[in-house]
Amino acid sequence: MIVLFLIGIILPTGFLVSLGVHSIRTETTLLRRQAAERISEASASIQIRAQESIGALLKPYIDYTQNHSSLAAPDIAALKELKRQETASSLILLDPQDQVLFPYLEVPPAGRFALPDLPLAQAARLRAAERTEFQDRDFSVAAQEYETLLATVKNPRWKASLLTRMAGCLSKTSDRDRAEAAYQQILTDFDSELTENGDPYGLTTALQLAEFWQGAGQQAQAAALDLKTLQTLLAGHWSLAWRMEDFYGHHIADRLEKEKQILSGAQRRAADETLDHWRQRQAQVRDIGEFMRTRWVALHAQLASAHRLNVPTLLLSVKNSAVIYCPYVDPRNEERRFSLVAMLPTLPLVEKWQRDLQPLAAASQIDFRIGLPDGTPLASSPQPAAARWAWQRPLENVLPTLMLQMGERRDYPVERAVSQRQKVYLAMVALAAIVILVALYTVWYAVRREMEVAQLKAGFVASISHELKTPLSIISLVGQTLKLKRYQSDEEVEDYYGMLAEETDRLKGLIEEVLDFSRLLENRKPYHRRETDLVTLTQTTLDRCLRSVGPRDVHTTFQSSQTPFLASVDSDAMERVILNLLDNAIKYSPVERTSLAVSLRQDNGDAVLEVKDQGYGIPSDEIGLVFERFYRGRSATEHQKTNGVGLGLSLVRHIVQAHGGVVSVRSQKDVGSTFIVRFPLKEKP
Ligand code: ADP
Repeated sequence: MIVLFLIGIILPTGFLVSLGVHSIRTETTLLRRQAAERISEASASIQIRAQESIGALLKPYIDYTQNHSSLAAPDIAALKELKRQETASSLILLDPQDQVLFPYLEVPPAGRFALPDLPLAQAARLRAAERTEFQDRDFSVAAQEYETLLATVKNPRWKASLLTRMAGCLSKTSDRDRAEAAYQQILTDFDSELTENGDPYGLTTALQLAEFWQGAGQQAQAAALDLKTLQTLLAGHWSLAWRMEDFYGHHIADRLEKEKQILSGAQRRAADETLDHWRQRQAQVRDIGEFMRTRWVALHAQLASAHRLNVPTLLLSVKNSAVIYCPYVDPRNEERRFSLVAMLPTLPLVEKWQRDLQPLAAASQIDFRIGLPDGTPLASSPQPAAARWAWQRPLENVLPTLMLQMGERRDYPVERAVSQRQKVYLAMVALAAIVILVALYTVWYAVRREMEVAQLKAGFVASISHELKTPLSIISLVGQTLKLKRYQSDEEVEDYYGMLAEETDRLKGLIEEVLDFSRLLENRKPYHRRETDLVTLTQTTLDRCLRSVGPRDVHTTFQSSQTPFLASVDSDAMERVILNLLDNAIKYSPVERTSLAVSLRQDNGDAVLEVKDQGYGIPSDEIGLVFERFYRGRSATEHQKTNGVGLGLSLVRHIVQAHGGVVSVRSQKDVGSTFIVRFPLKEKP
C-alpha cells in the first residue's frame, strides 16, 4: 500500500511540482529576458536620441571651427551670425593661450610696424623736407617737398605717410582746400594701411580731418565724421586690439558727446545710438574679461581634469544655463589652434529631451531619467516610478557627466506577472495532485471491492457445493438402502421416503434461492403487489418454518397490532423475506436456546415487521456487512452445521427496497439480534 502510495502520489505529484517549478523558472527567465531586451532596445534608441540632441547643440560651433580653421584672423561676420542664430548670450573665440580673439582682440598683433627703408636719395629728400617743416617751419615749402617725394615713392604705406605729412603742413597754411583733398585721398586710397604705431590710416586720418574741420569752424561736418568713424570702429572694420580700440573709441566718443548738440534729427539719434552701442561694447568687454578671470578659470580646470580640452563639450555649470566649448584641433599635429566658447542663457536640451524621449519611453513601457551624477534630475518621464533603474549609461560630450537611466515602469513589472503565473501553476499542481489522489483512492477502493467479491464468490462456491453435497449424499444413501432393501420395517421405508422428500425439498429450496437471486440480479423478477393480510402470511410462513426445523425445540411468539393487517405486497416475495429472517434466527441460535419473537405493527403509514432472536448475535464490525451478497459472518462459519450461501439477507434487502422500504438490524453479540423490516402499506404511485 505504501509503495502504491509512493508510486501513485508522491512520484506524479513530485513530477508535477518539478514540472511546474521548472516551467515557472523558464517563464520567469523568459519574461525577464523579454523585459531586458525591450529595455535594451528602447534604451539604445533613447540614448541615441539624447546624444543626438547634444550633438545638434554643438554642431554649429563645430562647423564654424572646421570651416574657419585655415583663416589667419577670425571671421567676425560668421561669428556674429552664429551668435545671432544660436541665441548665445556671448560668443568668445580664444587663441591657444586662451587670449580673447573675438569679440575683441585682447593682445595686439605681434610685429613691428616701422616703415621700410627708403632708397638713399629719397631718404635724403625726406630729411630735407622734415628740416623745412620742423626747423624752418616753412609749411608750404615743406608741403611742396613732400608732394614731390610722394610722386617718386611706390610703397603705399610711404605714400599714406607722405600724404599725411603734406596734409598736416597744408592745414597750417591758407591752402585749406588742398589740405582737405589730401586727407580725403588718404581716407579713400589708404584706409587700411598701418602707421608706424600700427594704427590704420583710415582711423587716424578721420580724427585729424575732423579736428581740421573743427579748427575751420565746420562743426557739423566734424561731428558727422566723428559719428561715422565711431560707427566704423564699432563695426570692427579695422580689427584693432582692444587697447587701441578702447583708446580711439574713448577719444571719439568724448568728442561726439560734445558735438552731438550741433547735429539734428536723424543724425543726432544715430549719434545717441552709436554712443549707446559704444557703452555696451565697453560693458561687454568688461563682462567677458570678468568671465575669463573667474568662471572660465574654473571651467578650464574642469575640462583639463576630464582631459577634454581637445573635445567639443557642453559644460553644465549652473542649472538651466550652459557653456559650449568647441576647440579646433589641427589634425596634423594635434595642436589646439583656437577654441570657441558660447554662453547659453538657457539649456534648450531639457525641453527637447522631454519632448523627444517621453513618447519613446512610454511606447516601450519604460521610464527614463537624465540627471547629474549627484542624482539631480534634468529631464525624465512624467512621474518616473521605475521599480529600479536597471539600465544606465553616461551621455557623451557633457560635463559633468550626465547619466541616462532607464528601468521598467512600475505598473508593468515582471515580478507581478511572474508571481501571478506562479500562483496559477501552483493551483494547477495542487489540482492535479488532488485529482490523482481521488483517482488513486477510487482504484484502490475498486480493487479492494473486487478482491472482496472474489473472496465472497469463492466462499459461495464452497458453501453451495457443500449445501448441494449433503442432501445429495443423503438422497444417494437412502436410494441405495431402498434399492438393496436394507430395511426392517415398513415404517422404516416410510421414514426413508420422508427423508427423500425432505432432502429434495431442501435442494429445491436451495436452488430456488440461487435462481431467485440470479434472476434478481438481472432484474428479471417483477413483483406483483396485491392486497395481502400480513398476519396470515406471517403465521403460515412461521408454521412452515417450524415444520422444516423438525424435532428441535423452538419457542416462538407472534404478535400483531391488528388483525387482519392489510398491506399491498408481493406475497411470494414477502414470504421469502419472512422465511429468510426466521430461518436465520433459528440457524444462528444455539439449539438449547432457540426463542423467536415476531411482531407486526403499523407506524406512520408503514408496516413494521420485527424478528427477534436470542442467538449468537452479530459482532459490531459485521453489522454493516451482513446485507452484502455472498457475505457470511463469523457465526455462520464458526458453527459448522449452519448451512447457507450468504445470499439470504441481500435478497431480503432487495425485496424490501423494491417495496419502497428499508431493512435494518440491531444486534449484540451473545445476546441476540432483531431484524426490522419497514415498508409502506400502500404502493406509492
Ligand atoms: P447465510 O445465512 O446463508 O449465511 P444470510 O445473508 O442470510 O446468509 O446472512 C448473512 C450473515 O448474517 C450470516 O452468515 C450470519 O453471520 C449473519 N446473520 C444473519 N442473521 C443472523 C441472526 N439472526 N443472528 C446472528 N447472525 C445472523
